[in-house]
Amino acid sequence: MKPKIWIVACIAFLGSTLLAENVPDGARWWSYVEFLASDKLEGRNTGSEGHRQAAEFVAKQFEREGLTPAGEKGYIQPVKFNTLQLDESKSSLSLERNGKEQAMRLGEDAYIGTRVDPAPAVEAGLVFVGYGLRVPESDYDDFAGLDTRGKIAVYLGGGPSSMSSAIAAHYQSAGQRWATLKSAGMIGAVAIPNPHHMDIPWPRIASNRFQMTMQLAAPGMDETAGEQIAITWNPAHADELFGGSGHTFDELVTEAEAGKQLPRFALLAKLKAKTLVKRGQVESQNIAAIYPGSDPKLKSEYIVMSAHIDHLGIGNPINWDSIFNGAMDNASGVAAVLDVADHFKEANVKTKRSVLFVVVTGEEKGLLGSQYYASNPTVPAKSIVADINTDMFLPLYPLKILTVYGLDESSLGDDTRAVAQQMGIKVQPDPEPVRNVFIRSDQYNFVRRGIPSVKVDFGFERGSKEAAIEKKWLTERYHAPSDDVNQPVDKQAAGTFNLLVGRLIERVADAEARPAWKPNSFFRRYATN
Ligand SMILES: [Zn+2]
Repeated sequence: MKPKIWIVACIAFLGSTLLAENVPDGARWWSYVEFLASDKLEGRNTGSEGHRQAAEFVAKQFEREGLTPAGEKGYIQPVKFNTLQLDESKSSLSLERNGKEQAMRLGEDAYIGTRVDPAPAVEAGLVFVGYGLRVPESDYDDFAGLDTRGKIAVYLGGGPSSMSSAIAAHYQSAGQRWATLKSAGMIGAVAIPNPHHMDIPWPRIASNRFQMTMQLAAPGMDETAGEQIAITWNPAHADELFGGSGHTFDELVTEAEAGKQLPRFALLAKLKAKTLVKRGQVESQNIAAIYPGSDPKLKSEYIVMSAHIDHLGIGNPINWDSIFNGAMDNASGVAAVLDVADHFKEANVKTKRSVLFVVVTGEEKGLLGSQYYASNPTVPAKSIVADINTDMFLPLYPLKILTVYGLDESSLGDDTRAVAQQMGIKVQPDPEPVRNVFIRSDQYNFVRRGIPSVKVDFGFERGSKEAAIEKKWLTERYHAPSDDVNQPVDKQAAGTFNLLVGRLIERVADAEARPAWKPNSFFRRYATN
């Protein structure tokens, strides 16, 4: 026992100097991750009991921290979903060429998605439309001169290098994509991922297709209403589509890697699909709480810190493990929210504006919880002045570089840079714009409401050992059961990250002016004030 007491005394002594220097060890953050990513919560699937328990846990922490409830039932904002699941045994996909029909293997050649509610039977010609983008502001049109009416679009993910990554990302969002195809008279889409930029290997993409998909049940929220079919094609088998067209998939990928506009042409094959969808309904939870500001006037404005709490639940086992714990994706971000809230409370931080902590559901189903929150905010919509989002920030090594998605879009980028520099941390913009991260997490629903937003992540230099660590993580653990609490994580680096986010929130909350879009930002178009 004695040595222990001695150690405690030592820690107490060290603790005072550490606290003075504000170097967190990440232990508290990790304790939250451990609970949220425990097997007991069964992967926190939207609408599940495990998710409900996770939401309850967050609400309890908010209560313990003395925050003001900002849900609809206390801290909770209930969200209703319609669920869809394809019965593959009663569904089929085939290509017909010169009157000869060839059955495709679902899961191997391609799969039929249910994010778009599929029509029971579809039969239509196919047109390869390059990247499938029509971007008036770049004077760019993949559909010009093509006969697309009543056809299904086949496109390669990505965009030409002549286009800014923000614009390319925006036009690749599900809603915008469908709006473009619809305006060209098309009825559905076949997406082929660029094999050089896939986050996860095809077998795992294919096995995730059995996940139940969801749509917000509230009317008017389905952004792909009217789309009859959405298929994802295995790039390794893409030549099945191109047979007889005079083009090969390899040739198209080579052009895309060179950043060029792609050729566009009609395909010989006609696509036939039959689908049977099982339907249901579930309710899930957003959780929201306010850390009140101190300025009589500015406290009615809110800085949002957001993170999604849902993950994939239980799925097909990989290495005998079927629970998708989602420790980094995104128990880590929710734990960061709680850690920042704890810090504000215990350090009695005074901010002029209020801070609104928003933990959302349904991210993995297509950013649905944040879409719902941004459409049904629990504070006046115009009083939300910023969103700082964290999603899978990946503290796998020391925090030397911070990647800021949206860095050059608004004054929030400048604030992030200033705070990071004070801590000796470098800041960089999105290093791989082709992965569309800026539109792939919850900040995008705030962006579309005109609210300046950033998403912050651990960064690395190209070709560095950190880059290799992240790449390996994405390949082996992203959306796999091994994203659990038994993986190596740099806890102290996570603690430093949370400290940085807390300081960023303070800086923005105390600034005289509310955050603003840069005059030349593409996303400024959504600004309402
Ligand atoms: Zn995810």
